[in-house]
Amino acid sequence: FLAILAAGAMVASLAACSASDTADAGAGAGGLVGVAMPTKSSERWIQDGNAVKKQLEDQGFKVDLQYAEDDIPTQVSQIENMITKGAKALIVASIDGTTLTSVLQEAADNKIPVIAYDRLIRDTKNVDYYATFDNFKVGQQQAWSLLNGLGLTELDGTAKADAPAGPFSVELFGGSADDNNATFFFNGAMDVLQPLIDKKTLVIKSGQTDFNTVATPRWDGETAQKRMENILTSTYSDGSKVNAILSPYDGISRGIISALTDAGYSVGAEWPIISGQDSEIDSVKAIIAGEQYATIFKDTRKLAAVAVEMTVAVLNGEKPEINNTTDYDNGKKVVDSYLLDSTVVVKDNITKELVDSGYWTQADIDG
Ligand code: BGC
Repeated sequence: FLAILAAGAMVASLAACSASDTADAGAGAGGLVGVAMPTKSSERWIQDGNAVKKQLEDQGFKVDLQYAEDDIPTQVSQIENMITKGAKALIVASIDGTTLTSVLQEAADNKIPVIAYDRLIRDTKNVDYYATFDNFKVGQQQAWSLLNGLGLTELDGTAKADAPAGPFSVELFGGSADDNNATFFFNGAMDVLQPLIDKKTLVIKSGQTDFNTVATPRWDGETAQKRMENILTSTYSDGSKVNAILSPYDGISRGIISALTDAGYSVGAEWPIISGQDSEIDSVKAIIAGEQYATIFKDTRKLAAVAVEMTVAVLNGEKPEINNTTDYDNGKKVVDSYLLDSTVVVKDNITKELVDSGYWTQADIDG
């Protein structure tokens, strides 16, 4: 009990504790952890939520897992509720990284530590640690996958000796501007693409290159589909073809694919190279069907493990393992972070990366 007090994380929920609760995960065990996820509309967050919940329960915690269906006030009130219920710690994947300042002040007032999950929480000092992937590298990988599909580089961005000269026409899509990750992905991708745009190997034919112009609010596939339709009408109705499309997320890629299909593109020689992210099952199928060229595999089980380790360490008054103390400035402080690696998945390595690792079963993919 004294150890709990020493951990400094328990003031609001001492009543919920008993001696036996402290067995497995030290000071925090047996207590409630609030897990706030953005939406169930994308498969990855369901995988994340399930993995975090299971791993916390395996450590003896109780879990309040909530999804906010991409509605900011809902997420704020879910977190308020977790605080009221006496959560000892919060793991939060924000919808809009800038909207949690006051609710996280409430958490801090109750001495509840906060782990930012996958997306950086901005504009508050009340975030203890950040578990994520190397988001700039994810953007580079998305760009490398486009270049690989065009025959210019290997999947890791190494130039090919017999690369075609181009020019290739490319269009760019970004993620949701209020998600800190979206700029990291876009900047990572442009770090790779810009030199080739400068050399005129790649041409952004619509002229739309500015992040705010190409961003997709709430990562919404239908919004992306409409923008792609508009680009095809405004820029490609002269009979020219778009050769590659940078997409930051599988749901956006599927919107783009619908726009291309509706405009009469057919899979085969004229079909553009399209990137993605998250290895969602429908997009794995789209890769097999030749509609999407690549996705990024971010193993949500590993991300969950990092977030749970951080939570346990903080509740025990220990310092969790981190590997980045420089890149994630949230406007109030640089948040100590742990960045995981991601992998480019194309048709050839679906089995190795996604099935052999147990992320998807072959039946999921065939179904
Ligand atoms: C995540 C991506 C995901 C996107 C849309 C980002 O914050 O890092 O994995 O594709 O949100 O859900």
